[in-house]
Amino acid sequence: MNGVCRANGCSTPAQAMLMMCPSHWRMLPAALQRTLRRSQQECAGNERDPALVPYLDACAQAVEFVAMREMRTPDNRYRQALALLEADLLGGGDQSHDHLRTCLQAQAAPAD
Ligand SMILES: [Zn+2]
Repeated sequence: MNGVCRANGCSTPAQAMLMMCPSHWRMLPAALQRTLRRSQQECAGNERDPALVPYLDACAQAVEFVAMREMRTPDNRYRQALALLEADLLGGGDQSHDHLRTCLQAQAAPAD
């Protein structure tokens, strides 16, 4: 499945496994690329699992890294979704999963 680059302000098509278009993906530090790939594999198909936390965190770091390099706002839905998920894991409820999904879907849409 293909998607759109998750970097703020970029609407270039991107492979789903890479999260960002080739030019933005290459901008990321190698260590962050490895973390993204590994955490994505670990949480694949289980969006309620706490394993999603490191993946969302890596995604948020990637969006923020590119945003800083391009002098854009570092705001991103991954960071918001991560905060919701962490609050949910701590609180024991699950009503925020709808918000989590909404956040992730919104990030998948082109920004700006
Ligand atoms: Zn891009």
